[in-house]
Amino acid sequence: MNELIKDVHIAIIGAGMGGLATALALAKQGFTHISVYEAASHLGFVGAGIQLAPNMARILDRLGCWVEIEKEAVDLKETSIRQGDTDTELTHVDLRYIRETYSYPHMVVHRASLATALFNACKRSPSITFNFSTTISPIHTFSPLPTFSATPRYSPPYTVTCSILLACDGVKSPTRTSLLTALNAHADILDTSQAAYRIMLSRAQLTPFPHLLALLDSQAVTRWIGPSRHIIAYPVSSHTIYNISTVQPDTNFAAAPSATYTTRGSKTSMLETFSDFCPRVQEMLQLVPDTEVCEWKLRVHPPLPTWIHGCVALVGDAAHPTLPHLAQGAAQAIEDAAVLGVVLSKCPDTSPESINKSLKVYEKVRKERAEILVELAAQSGRELHLGEGKAREERDRVFREGGAEGKVPDKWADREVQGMVYGFDCVEIAEGCFEKVFRAL
Ligand SMILES: Cc1cc2nc3c(=O)[nH]c(=O)nc-3n(C[C@H](O)[C@H](O)[C@H](O)COP(=O)(O)OP(=O)(O)OC[C@H]3O[C@@H](n4cnc5c(N)ncnc54)[C@H](O)[C@@H]3O)c2cc1C
Repeated sequence: MNELIKDVHIAIIGAGMGGLATALALAKQGFTHISVYEAASHLGFVGAGIQLAPNMARILDRLGCWVEIEKEAVDLKETSIRQGDTDTELTHVDLRYIRETYSYPHMVVHRASLATALFNACKRSPSITFNFSTTISPIHTFSPLPTFSATPRYSPPYTVTCSILLACDGVKSPTRTSLLTALNAHADILDTSQAAYRIMLSRAQLTPFPHLLALLDSQAVTRWIGPSRHIIAYPVSSHTIYNISTVQPDTNFAAAPSATYTTRGSKTSMLETFSDFCPRVQEMLQLVPDTEVCEWKLRVHPPLPTWIHGCVALVGDAAHPTLPHLAQGAAQAIEDAAVLGVVLSKCPDTSPESINKSLKVYEKVRKERAEILVELAAQSGRELHLGEGKAREERDRVFREGGAEGKVPDKWADREVQGMVYGFDCVEIAEGCFEKVFRAL
C-alpha cells in the first residue's frame, strides 16, 4: 500500500453490518485513521437470525472474526420447502455439499452475534474510532474533500472533513438522496408491497411441544410457502432459539412507505395473515408473546445510476437494498466492505482524482453483481408467492422433480444460483482487475 494513502481520514456513516465490516476491512489493509459515525447510542440489532452464506463466511474469516461467530452458529445440513397450508414437503435439498465445494459451510446465527463479533474485532484495532449517538446530515461537499455535519445527541453540531466518505447508512440512506440530488438523478422507493414479521422462540417456550422442539434441534431451514406469503425458519444461538421470519402483503405501512420501516406488530393480524397455514405453523405463531411481534416494511430501490460521487461512495443497503428472499443483503454489504479495502489500499496516491477512480473500480467490481442478486431475490419471491393456477402447478412440479439435483424454483436453494453466489471471491476479483480497470478510467 502507498505510504501516504494509509493515513488519510476515512469517515464511515453507520455501524450496521456494512459499516462495521468496512471499518474492519480498511483497518486490516493498514489504514490508520477511520472514524465511524452512528446515529444510535449502541449496536441496536433487533432480535432476529441471519444466514451466513459461504461468500460471507470467506470474508469474515479473512477479517479475523469467523472463529468467534462460528462457535454459536448452526451448521445447516438441509432445507425442506413445504406447502404452507398442508405442511406437505415440496422438495428437500441437501446442503452438506456446500462446505466441501466452497470451503465454508452455510450457517445461521443470531444477528447480535455477527454484529458483536465484527464490533469486537473493530475495537481491537487502534485505527478505528466510534462516534455513537451522532447523526450525519447533510453532506456539504463530495470533493475534493468530503465535508459533512455531525450532530451528537447531547452536544452542538460540528463539521467533519475527510478524504474519503463511505455511506453505510442503510436502506433509508440520507447520503443516497444527497448524492443523487447533487448529480441531478433520482431513484425513488419501489413499493414491494411486502412486509415481514421477525420472531424468536426460546427452547423453554418450545419444550412442551416435542414436534416443535424437533425443529429447534434440527440442522435445517424450513420454508412454508403460500399465495403472497411464506415463512422461513431455522435454529440459531447453538440451538437455543428458533428464528422465524415471515413475508406477507404489506397492509400496515402501505399508507406511508417511506415514513418508517419497523413497527410493533399486532399478534391478532399476524395470526389472521397465516390463518390458513398448517397447525405446526399456527402453534408456533401462538407462542409469540403479544408484545413481541415486530413487523418490518420491505423496501427497495431500482438500480441507482451510480454509487459514487467525488470521494464519496454508497455501501450496503444504501447502494443495493434487496428483498430478503436470497438471504444476501448483509452478505453483499460485507462483499462491498472487502472490495473497498482492496481498491483503496491500491490507490496510488492521495489525490481526489485517484481516490475517485479507486472508488469507481469498487463500483465496477460490485454494482452489476449486487444488482443481479437483488433481481434474483425479487424473482424468487414471485415464484414462492404464486397463487392457484397453471404457473403454480408447474412450479410445484419443478420442486418435486428437481430437488434431488438441486434444481428448484426457490433461488436460495437452487444449486446453480448457489454456485454463482457462493463461488464468487470478490477479493480475488478486485485484486486481479484493479490495475487494468483503474488505468482504463
Ligand atoms: C426480514 C429480513 C431478513 C434478512 N435476512 C438476511 C440474511 O439471512 N442474510 C443476509 O445476508 N441479509 C439478510 N437481510 C438483509 C440485511 O439485514 C441487510 O441487507 C443489512 O443489514 C444491511 O446492512 P447495512 O449496514 O447496509 O445497513 P443497516 O444494517 O441498516 O445499517 C445502517 C446503519 O446506519 C445508521 N444510520 C442511518 N442513517 C444515519 C445517519 N444519518 N447518521 C448516522 N448513522 C446513520 C443506522 O442507525 C444503522 O445502524 C435481511 C433483511 C430483512 C429485512
